[in-house]
Amino acid sequence: MEIKTNALMLRAVDYNENDKILTLLSAEYGKISAGIKGVKKPNAKLKFAAQPFCFAEYILAKRGDKFTVINCSECESFYDLRTDINKFYAASAVIEAVNALTYEGDECAEIFSECVRTLSDMCAYDEKLPLIKFLTFALRKSGYGIALDNCTECGADLVKAEKLRFDMDAGAFTCYGCGSGIGASQVTYNVLRKLDGKPYEKDFITDDGEKRALRLLREYFAYKTDNQLKSLSEYIRLI
Ligand SMILES: [Zn+2]
Repeated sequence: MEIKTNALMLRAVDYNENDKILTLLSAEYGKISAGIKGVKKPNAKLKFAAQPFCFAEYILAKRGDKFTVINCSECESFYDLRTDINKFYAASAVIEAVNALTYEGDECAEIFSECVRTLSDMCAYDEKLPLIKFLTFALRKSGYGIALDNCTECGADLVKAEKLRFDMDAGAFTCYGCGSGIGASQVTYNVLRKLDGKPYEKDFITDDGEKRALRLLREYFAYKTDNQLKSLSEYIRLI
């Protein structure tokens, strides 16, 4: 039996001398493992199908519960993501997050289309904001949304608070005095509110605001999912 599906290449692992096993994210079938033969040979016709960020129509042969890629035509190569080191690590962080948050057999059409949109935005514009937006979206979809409202303990408005805390269990901010979470800056809180379309305090947004927000997202992601996003750490180091 053959299936044809639009999919994103999330991960490629060497297998045998010339083969690889790909982890694909398909809009229709969710996450799939599929072997691909001969792609490590220098002139392999389907080499591109095992490249990072490949978004393509894959044709898969299914035998029992195993898939093999038998053909592939590229929809979008996201070439700019491979030529700019900052974009490369930001996009790799998106792919790592998707790989950590999706499971074989799960429906994933929404995360798939948001991921494709994010990679395409990262090619066209600065990659920072698309990355923060994607991580908050993917966390929310997985049940780990970040609350950006008032202090969850006393109800105080936090937009102008000088020092805050972030409660990892609740995924929410509190006043510094109310909570027991990790210290968080007013910058991070206001950057996240701005990206979420909520009223924010302009004076509290600094040039390193996105970097601070990404550090918090990295810690929170690791806390909730037990996955370290290595590319995100590398990206934070670069910017
Ligand atoms: Zn409070």
